[in-house]
Parts: sequence; C-alpha cells; structure tokens
Amino acid sequence: MDPIVEHLADGIARGQLRSLAKAITLVESKLPEHNQLAGQLLEKLLPFTGNALRIGITGVPGVGKSTFIEAFGLHLIERGHKVAVLAVDPSSQITGGSILGDKTRMELLSRETNAYIRPSPAGETLGGVARKTREAMLICEAYGFDVVLVETVGVGQSEVTVAQMVDFFLLLQLPNAGDELQGIKKGVMELADGIIINKADGDNQPKAQLARAQIVNALHILSPRSPNWQVPVLLASGLAKQGIDAVWDMLGKYRSAMMESGEFQEKRSCQVVDWMWSMLMDEVKDMFVQNRNVASLLPGLREAVHHGVTTPGMAVKRLIEAYRRPLL
Ligand code: GDP
Repeated sequence: MDPIVEHLADGIARGQLRSLAKAITLVESKLPEHNQLAGQLLEKLLPFTGNALRIGITGVPGVGKSTFIEAFGLHLIERGHKVAVLAVDPSSQITGGSILGDKTRMELLSRETNAYIRPSPAGETLGGVARKTREAMLICEAYGFDVVLVETVGVGQSEVTVAQMVDFFLLLQLPNAGDELQGIKKGVMELADGIIINKADGDNQPKAQLARAQIVNALHILSPRSPNWQVPVLLASGLAKQGIDAVWDMLGKYRSAMMESGEFQEKRSCQVVDWMWSMLMDEVKDMFVQNRNVASLLPGLREAVHHGVTTPGMAVKRLIEAYRRPLL
C-alpha cells in the first residue's frame, strides 16, 4: 500500500481534521494517479464506514436549507453527535454558477469541532459529483461522523441522485399552500421520506398549517415507498429553531422501523450495487469511445446521423463492429 494512503488512513483513524480534508481532496482530484490512491484509501477505510445516519436534504433555493441545516446540526452537536455536511450541486454545469456554494453559509456550525462542512465538488457532471460525494461520505463515516447530511437543490436529476445515496430523504417546503412552483416538484415528493414545511414561524403559521394539510392530502394519492413508513409532514422553523427536535425524533422512528423490517440494510445494499453498475457503465462508455477503431469512425457517423443520412441504429451497429475488430 502506498505510504500516502497509510498516512491518511492513520490520520483519519486518529481523528485528524487535516487528514480528513486531504483525503476528500484526493477523492475529488481529476489526476489518474490520485484516483488510484483514492481507490486504495477507500478500500482501506471501508470496514470503518456505514455507521452514520445518511440524510439527504432538498428544497428550492430560498426555502431555508442552510439556515435549517445549521440549526439542526447545532442541535445534534449539543446532543453529542458529530455532523458532516456535504453537498451535491451540479448547477455550475447548467448555469455556469453554483446555487449552493456561493454564499457564506452555516458560519456557526462551521466553527464547531464536531462539525465538518464540505462544499460540492466543482466542475463535474452530475455523475462525477455524485461519485465524489458518496466517497466523501464514506471518508466522513470512517472519521467518526455519525450523521451525514447531503444537501442538494432541484437541478435536473440531482435530487434523484442524492435520494439514491442516503437512508432518509428530507424535503423542505415553503409555507405557500398551492404554490404552482412547488406543484411542479411532485416528482420530488415521491422521493421524500419526510417533508418539512419550513419557515413555519410568526405570521407564516396559518399558511404553514394549510400547506401541511394540502401536502398530506397530496401524499394520499402517491403509493407509499415502504409498507412500514408513512411520510410525516412536520412544521419547523430553522430561523426560530422550532420543531427541530421533532425532526430528529422522526429520523429516530424511521431508523427503528426500517431496521426492524430489514429495509434499512436492504436499501443500502441495493444502493451500493446500483452504484457499482453506474460506475461500470461510465467506465465502459469511456473505454468504448476511446477505442481507436471507434474513435476514428465516430465523428463521421455522428455527422451522418445528424443529417439524417444514417439511422442511429445503423451507426451503433457499425461502431460495435468496429470495436470488436482488431485495433487499427
Ligand atoms: P437556502 O437557499 O435554501 O439555503 O435558504 P437560506 O437558508 O439561505 O434562507 C433563505 C432566506 O430565508 C434567508 O433570508 C433566511 O434568513 C430566510 N429563512 C431561512 N429560514 C427561515 C425560517 O425558518 N423562517 C423565516 N421566516 N425565514 C427563514
């Protein structure tokens, strides 16, 4: 094993923050030699992973995610937990800027020794961000964080991706009953294991109650994700620090119910196998398009398909034939 890997693994086992940060940087690196080392490190750390409750958190920009995560994180730390906050934000891909990462966020939480906040890896495709965040999550677990929060925002497929890497997916909603914009996010409601009507403070309270009733109604028409869990809809305020305890309580109940029915481990096992497949598919795709025979045909065939001269099916057939032939 490479001495750098030994050194980092040792530092992580001894709870050195510098080693944690360096290990995550290694995982995020694009250099092939770093990739190799990151693979070794993850393998070495694997026996020490899996002990955190993994919670995904999503909601539209402005719903109060960072305020909530800070209040929630501080609450957990007061109760003796160690909390890591990671992010999946592929928005730079689409908008050229980051939605989650640009502001100074969670200042109080970031000062806590039992908290670690890591922004989303930048300049990656969603698949790339997801992989790096998953690996960072494992490193955080090996380090000893027992709660990992993975924050995301509804850009493209990012919510599905985060739901696929966590035990519990939490949706934050605004106290706007019947809001059109939120209606569009029905697909996200289907992913949620719990929903919070956030900002349920001051004058917002009646609206929040109404929103809650509507969401509870809407949930009735969705088929439940688990026969052993009914999605709770809670009211909370990250700013006024209200309802935070109930959120943790809900998570505890969820964990107990899922552990009892065996779904907790089953879900993780399925997630990790899905992860293997998606990584394999990425690698196979790279291998295929980098093959010399394929690479030489690809631009011409792409043009031919673009101009309607060849069908996609024919192009694929030729590419596969080219791949199977001895290299040019
Ligand atoms: P994010 O974009 O989802 O991370 O949202 P932020 O946490 O940055 O909050 C967006 C805005 O909503 C800020 O101006 C916050 O002060 C405000 N805000 C956040 N949480 C609450 C809350 O619980 N109640 C109220 N009334 N305002 C909040």
